[in-house]
Amino acid sequence: MDPIKDYARYSFWLETCGDDLTPRPRLDGSVEFDVAILGAGFSGLWTAYYLLRRDPSLRVAVLEREIAGFGASGRNGGWCSAGFPVSPAELERRYGADATRDLLLTMIDAVDEVGRVAAVEDLDVQYVKGGTLRLAIGPHQLPAIERARQTYERLGLGEHYTALDADETARRVRVAGALAALYSPNCAVVHPGRLVRGLARAVERHGATIYEQTPVTDYVPRAGAGPEDLPRLVTPYGDVRARTVVLAGEAYLSQLPRLRRQLIPVYSLIVLTEPLSESQWAEIGWEGRETVSSQRYSVDYLSRTADGRIAFGGRGAPYHLGSRIEDTFDRHQPTHGMLRDLTLRWFPMLQGIRFTHAWGGPLGAPRDWMPTTSYDPAGGVATARGYTGQGVSTTNLAGRILADLITGADTPLTHLPTVNHHSPDWEPEPLRWLGVRYVQSGYLRLDREAERTGRPPTGTSLTERLGAH
Ligand SMILES: Cc1cc2nc3c(=O)[nH]c(=O)nc-3n(C[C@H](O)[C@H](O)[C@H](O)COP(=O)(O)OP(=O)(O)OC[C@H]3O[C@@H](n4cnc5c(N)ncnc54)[C@H](O)[C@@H]3O)c2cc1C
Repeated sequence: MDPIKDYARYSFWLETCGDDLTPRPRLDGSVEFDVAILGAGFSGLWTAYYLLRRDPSLRVAVLEREIAGFGASGRNGGWCSAGFPVSPAELERRYGADATRDLLLTMIDAVDEVGRVAAVEDLDVQYVKGGTLRLAIGPHQLPAIERARQTYERLGLGEHYTALDADETARRVRVAGALAALYSPNCAVVHPGRLVRGLARAVERHGATIYEQTPVTDYVPRAGAGPEDLPRLVTPYGDVRARTVVLAGEAYLSQLPRLRRQLIPVYSLIVLTEPLSESQWAEIGWEGRETVSSQRYSVDYLSRTADGRIAFGGRGAPYHLGSRIEDTFDRHQPTHGMLRDLTLRWFPMLQGIRFTHAWGGPLGAPRDWMPTTSYDPAGGVATARGYTGQGVSTTNLAGRILADLITGADTPLTHLPTVNHHSPDWEPEPLRWLGVRYVQSGYLRLDREAERTGRPPTGTSLTERLGAH
């Protein structure tokens, strides 16, 4: 038997979640449930939660290879945001203005729903709804936020977004070189470790069984009409047969043979400062605890933690051939170094600050960046996946959608564009590796070039066309 891992080391959030991380018992022999869920991250747990709220008599099992919250849910930036992985302009192009507006309004509601459930279930998740600021740092970033503002205006969502000039931005947070911002109130910060671990306790209170240290090696859809033909999750310790199996393993689903090309694991990394002093905070401001990002192609996301630190996250860590996922990839020195440098460039008054934590993890990206919440009643297989780095609130929405689909309810949620969406497969290797690495290094190059020249990327380069979403 493998030794139990030191799970607190995987992120600051797991380290400070206040919950006992000793694994729950593993599955011991074949069993039968009504619903069996692969994955105890937000997707699996929200699905279990809403199923049990709708029908407390359901027998629900969650199977988790490590511990609840081991994946992205226990490691993320804590943005509980109305943002959606596919840009509003691209959603409008794919689905039209009405469907886009409905989806974005539902996302706005999902931010509040997470706070509502946290309050109802008495989860101490440090939920603070301070809104979000998209900064333009340098003149080259101004056109992107103006374009975004115009799109929201055109979609009839203008009231949710306010353009701020440099002074108005600095009154919220003082970031070197910030020339403007787009502010939206629809974002909260949460302690994701407390949320995912609290949610696991809540679904147990509502009657679910969570098996930890239980890897699912395959799933088998319904084979026929007989009771012996029920769909099942296959593990080394026995099978779990159920009327419905739910695949909620996000990036890690790429390791199941049947789903190998549906998602790729993209690594996102975070560095964390020590708590700032009162005088440092007085220089920076940021009393509203908005989440903060800029327009860099290689993505940045910041938050001010409840205990007064700055978390600075970003992408750029390399994709690995064959969609490999390994613990060592969570700590990529060049990317963590870049994030530390960026922290000091954004906040030059913090020279000499100590960085106490650095971690990361894989998120699941489908070929078209579009999350999927699907249910096939014939095969008895449901899935929620593909959040492309925007899953803290989107998983909550996905959990409600799957609960509706599985219990046969026809609701406005079951008509959203993520429902029964099927993303195209990623290219076979080594083409996939070549393409993804090309776009990743292209993004870093475009960012450097735009900073140097003060001009935005043209939108026509091969990198931008390959990576468009
Ligand atoms: C560093 C980082 C920062 C991020 N920041 C943000 C942010 O600020 N805001 C935001 O909205 N989103 C963010 N995201 C994305 C967000 O965290 C995810 O979209 C979300 O947590 C996905 O939840 P999930 O339950 O689908 O997947 P996960 O949390 O990855 O959970 C999947 C679970 O399934 C288990 N599992 C997988 N395969 C198997 C198997 N075969 N057998 C058994 N168990 C299995 C895994 O161990 C894991 O616990 C970030 C992600 C990362 C990595």
